[in-house]
Amino acid sequence: MNIQENISLKEYNTFGIDVNAKRFVSITSVYQLQQLIKEEKDIFLISGGSNMLLTKDIETLVVHINFKGISIDQQNHNDVYITVNAGENWHEFVLWCVSLNYGGLENLSLIPGNVGTCPIQNIGAYGVEVKDTITKVEAIEIKTGKLVSFSAEECQFGYRNSIFKNKAKGKYILTSVSFKLTKNNHKLNTSYGAIESELSSKGITNPTIKDISDAVITIRQSKLPNPKEIGNSGSFFKNPVISKEHFEKLQKKYPDIPSYVISDTEIKVPAGWLIEQSGFKGKRFGNYGVHEKQALVLVNYGDASGKEIYELAQKIQRTIKDTFDINLEIEVNIIQ
Ligand SMILES: Cc1cc2nc3c(=O)[nH]c(=O)nc-3n(C[C@H](O)[C@H](O)[C@H](O)COP(=O)(O)OP(=O)(O)OC[C@H]3O[C@@H](n4cnc5c(N)ncnc54)[C@H](O)[C@@H]3O)c2cc1C
Repeated sequence: MNIQENISLKEYNTFGIDVNAKRFVSITSVYQLQQLIKEEKDIFLISGGSNMLLTKDIETLVVHINFKGISIDQQNHNDVYITVNAGENWHEFVLWCVSLNYGGLENLSLIPGNVGTCPIQNIGAYGVEVKDTITKVEAIEIKTGKLVSFSAEECQFGYRNSIFKNKAKGKYILTSVSFKLTKNNHKLNTSYGAIESELSSKGITNPTIKDISDAVITIRQSKLPNPKEIGNSGSFFKNPVISKEHFEKLQKKYPDIPSYVISDTEIKVPAGWLIEQSGFKGKRFGNYGVHEKQALVLVNYGDASGKEIYELAQKIQRTIKDTFDINLEIEVNIIQ
């Protein structure tokens, strides 16, 4: 095991924040990880680094999860069961599934990050959440070093949420994720966002999962900044869910306020709209700011610090609270 010293984490996080890891190790097998945590319990995990804002140097050992491998466990005429090691890149895995006509993940194309971290915030996009395809998550319990498994039910998935963000936070290292995908009779989901118009602009009326994946990729590329060009962590805030009464009050003042009904009593409001209404969309403060096309995305144009970006996020939260009486929750993991 090669533990390196004083390593910059700039290349390991999509915000491109240049903080230092006092000690850093890249781990390529579960066995290696089990050996490591016999000695080191105080660790900081990094996978794709696409859902974190680093605000300071990391004093504890940074463990980069880098073990790869995909296996087909079982299949029949209709379904295929696949287990993927944590260090596989998410989008590459989705493209692999699409190339084999395995359905279920196509709407989640082009989400950065690794497979092992997809259950943590139950990644979702274009009307699909990964929870609907996950059958099992394997993890090492840090305290004991034992390999344990969580059924989908035990993962307690919710909107951008799971047990790994709550009760189990900091206690486990996720090592693999198992999925059940379709081989036939795919349940295509084209109703969300601009998928349908993108398909019809290409004259596609009977789409394959590849058509949907391609449409999602095109839409995402036109809307979201590529982290390789402008540092960011995708949606910085969650879309808030408010009471129906609260929504009706806001609607009187802001007749154009967009909404999605969650239940008889709850309404989801797009955080991006709230931020745009507050005048932050496209605002630039030196080397950082709010993206010009997508108000939900905070960006690092150059050498901004994580602290500066976090302060901007807090300023946005205060403004939204004062203007709409809504608490905006941060989706990205703030490392401080
Ligand atoms: C441009 C862009 C677009 C995005 N779009 C979406 C989207 O559409 N939908 C969506 O849901 N998300 C989106 N995201 C967020 C992000 O891609 C996902 O949250 C992704 O699952 C994070 O994976 P990661 O491997 O990069 O995690 P990391 O950022 O490496 O880690 C996330 C957290 O998990 C911890 N961790 C890392 N590895 C492990 C492990 N093996 N076990 C336990 N804990 C671990 C870390 O310490 C950290 O707290 C987007 C991000 C970007 C940059």
